[in-house]
Amino acid sequence: MDNHLPVAVIGAGPVGLAAAAHLLERGETPILFEAGTEVGTNIRSWQHVRMFSPWEFTVDSASVRLLEKHGWHMPPQNELPTGYDLLEQYLTPLAELPEIKTQLRLNAKVVAISRRDIDKMQDAQREAAPFVLHIVYGDGQEALVEARAVIDASGTWHQPNPLGSGGLPVMGEKRYADHIAYGIPDILGEASARYANQRVMVVGSGHSAINALLELVELQADYPETRLVWAMRSTNLARVLGGGEDDALPARGKLGLRIKAALDNGSLSIVAPFRVRELNGVNGGIDVVGDTPDGFMTVQVDELIVSTGARPDLNMLRELRLELDPSLESTRALGPMIDPNIHSCGTVRPHGEAELRHPEKDFYIVGMKSYGRAPTFLLATGYEQVRSVVAALVGDWEAARDVQLNLPETGVCSTDLAGEGAACCGTPNNLVPQANTISLTSIPVVGHQLQLVSLPTASRACGCDDTCCGDGVRSTSCGCETSCCS
Ligand SMILES: Cc1cc2nc3c(=O)[nH]c(=O)nc-3n(C[C@H](O)[C@H](O)[C@H](O)COP(=O)(O)OP(=O)(O)OC[C@H]3O[C@@H](n4cnc5c(N)ncnc54)[C@H](O)[C@@H]3O)c2cc1C
Repeated sequence: MDNHLPVAVIGAGPVGLAAAAHLLERGETPILFEAGTEVGTNIRSWQHVRMFSPWEFTVDSASVRLLEKHGWHMPPQNELPTGYDLLEQYLTPLAELPEIKTQLRLNAKVVAISRRDIDKMQDAQREAAPFVLHIVYGDGQEALVEARAVIDASGTWHQPNPLGSGGLPVMGEKRYADHIAYGIPDILGEASARYANQRVMVVGSGHSAINALLELVELQADYPETRLVWAMRSTNLARVLGGGEDDALPARGKLGLRIKAALDNGSLSIVAPFRVRELNGVNGGIDVVGDTPDGFMTVQVDELIVSTGARPDLNMLRELRLELDPSLESTRALGPMIDPNIHSCGTVRPHGEAELRHPEKDFYIVGMKSYGRAPTFLLATGYEQVRSVVAALVGDWEAARDVQLNLPETGVCSTDLAGEGAACCGTPNNLVPQANTISLTSIPVVGHQLQLVSLPTASRACGCDDTCCGDGVRSTSCGCETSCCS
């Protein structure tokens, strides 16, 4: 292969930009394609959210070295940036550096990747052939660009999961799209008029749902007619609320503590387990029909916020030989390490090029996308991934293998940014509300007799066998050997 070709990096989020910085440091030529008009496009949609990692864990070492060469100063290590801070104080200055800027193509979406004249089926000469990336620019122009290796750091946030608990859209989801927002809308900023004094349902049980709910609770202080209902399919509130004061990232732990306080003072109601089946438009609002243990129930709302995670775009990788985890769509070797069905209290063990390798030589998926649908990705992980991958691409196998990752513990078996499938038992904590039933009195319920949806929050007996969670989630490493369930 022509080693003078650049290494293509897809996506100018924090991990893609870090890959470019590592490539430059190693004397390589990166070419960086970003679908959006600015770097960090995905982060812009949640820029109002304060991150739970302090600056120390949100910057990449090679990027910092490059920035410091140009006089940049690290923000106070212990402070927590918002998404906006990360963009303004780190990613934009990094992208503006001449070394990066000349290699960055904005408004350039990668829609497909293959090898020059070699389709997916062909073995002969495969590894010798350069990659070819099909790019579609914002103005409709197209280009085919060759590269000697490809690092896909295109994230998942722009591909939110639909509302249905089975992974499909529910009936009416498309039709009533005007009433639905995905992710974490800017509830206290530009979207405030949309939610003020409205009946709002938030669906999901991860940090994204909690972030949205906390902003809604703040909005409610100024607009007391705002009615909030939190719908989730999980009934394990201890797991949903997270590690609290035991979380090594205190800001992440505090999310659970704050939402617990809002539940306690009645600012919002929970319906759980509640699996949305159908949406119907009624009198300008939406009837949300959900499946509960007591049968179908209808909750009337004006707006829905769907925070049920995201999934990777695999279409553009169709011509490449991938090995993916069948359930998570993460890189295969990563699956067992991050699978929310079995992942335990400990954090992800260090991993790098070896775990990220695909049958397609010199092609790597990194960053948020390397985790597929698993919601637990942290930037520090991604930065170590690209350091290792770039070392391998330049033949420094010793550095590629020497992976070091020191991630903070969650204090609860599984942290869950967005998904509802997170497994395992919570460590004993005092977060779990004592009430077994949370009433729906503030939300009109029609069509069926009002049924209070029971939310079992009683502590579990810690049998410490493989089914200790008792919630239908099989746990193979749920920490029974340590603290297990309370
Ligand atoms: C609300 C929220 C808070 C978070 N807080 C933290 C935290 O405190 N600490 C932490 O460690 N992690 C946190 N994360 C997790 C994670 O670190 C971020 O999601 C991070 O943005 C992931 O970086 P990335 O570079 O992998 O992907 P992204 O930031 O998603 O970047 C991907 C980029 O690729 C571009 N792109 C997509 N498709 C294409 C294409 N086909 N062609 C070209 N470009 C494309 C996108 O436009 C985007 O700019 C948080 C995530 C969320 C959602």
